Amino acid sequence: MTDIEIAPERLRAFARALVAAAGSDAAEAACVADNLVEANLTGHDSHGVGMLPIYLDAVKRGKLALGATPKVVSETLATLVVDGQQGYGQTIMRAATDLLCAKAKHAGAAVLALRNTYHIGRVGAWAEQAAAHGLASFFVVDVAGVDAKVAPFGGIAGRLGTNPICLGLPVPGFPPIVADMATSRIAVGKVRVAFNKGVPVAPGILIDHQGKPTTDPATMYTQPSGALLAMAEHKGYALSALIELFAGALGGGGTIATWQPSETRIINNAIAVAIDPAALGTAETVAAEAQKLEAWLKSGQNDVMLPGEPERRARAKRAASIPIDSGNWGLLVELAKSLGVAVPA
Ligand code: NAD
Repeated sequence: MTDIEIAPERLRAFARALVAAAGSDAAEAACVADNLVEANLTGHDSHGVGMLPIYLDAVKRGKLALGATPKVVSETLATLVVDGQQGYGQTIMRAATDLLCAKAKHAGAAVLALRNTYHIGRVGAWAEQAAAHGLASFFVVDVAGVDAKVAPFGGIAGRLGTNPICLGLPVPGFPPIVADMATSRIAVGKVRVAFNKGVPVAPGILIDHQGKPTTDPATMYTQPSGALLAMAEHKGYALSALIELFAGALGGGGTIATWQPSETRIINNAIAVAIDPAALGTAETVAAEAQKLEAWLKSGQNDVMLPGEPERRARAKRAASIPIDSGNWGLLVELAKSLGVAVPA
């Protein structure tokens, strides 16, 4: 089936109307919707408006708290513990990242432990926000609450979430360099997008419930469920296990082992660190070093990109029109009808 094409501002307005119709005030609706459309613009449809049926179903079931604000549980000069009170990850994370950045500016570096927050979306958005404050940052995030989707290395049953890691570096005068990824071979949302499109995923990503390789995304949506594999074999699994412990145990939100059996709400816990290059004495040199590295990486070779470049290219390509596959669009239309929201022509 063919994609539909829609201008970003029209998609933003539609997404805002859907979130508002589910009960959010205008500011919350704008924050959530704009973040999702931004994910579509960067090419990550897995974290774009296709999440709305999941989000608004959670609202309906009382699993996502509307109007929640970040509750500061404790803080020191350079640490901050925030409870997201199961509110929209977009509003909570935007505010929590600002608080983290203010502390890092003051102390040179700061740590945020975020717990008990609904899905925070594309993690790169928060590294970009930190970079806009002139700060380097990294984020490790666990995915508790919903069924574990990723098999531990050596196993066949889902035991971990897709536990993303993201690092961002501000480069004065240039876009920040951001590496932002799930620690599974692909983000689970990309399996959902393939499932809704009715197309297979690439080989080497999924196993069925017996541990046999499969390319059929339906294996994740039938019982007994198959599982996603970790990226980079044992290394991805090792990283994901430590992300789980940092975000869930060190951060205090509880790991996926505490949240299981399924709570049927996407809860993200996170540890984030922001670093002020000025405190390290590198504020003046980081841009030149980054440019030197980029030139070195690309010298004499075609098609080498820096992390973050695919997202910038997608943004340029999608600036006037975002493609949405008909499967995902159909779900949004259904949602709009159920909420009495007009569907863009
Ligand atoms: P991906 O595989 O598309 O990209 C991963 C990283 O690799 C990106 O930084 C990208 O810029 C870089 N990259 C891609 N191709 C490259 C190339 N040829 N050269 C250089 N760099 C390249 O990302 P993913 O793992 O599918 O994750 C997608 C999104 O899902 C991310 O934004 C992540 O934050 C999000 N996510 C969120 C959650 C959550 O619970 N909130 C969970 C998992 C993933």
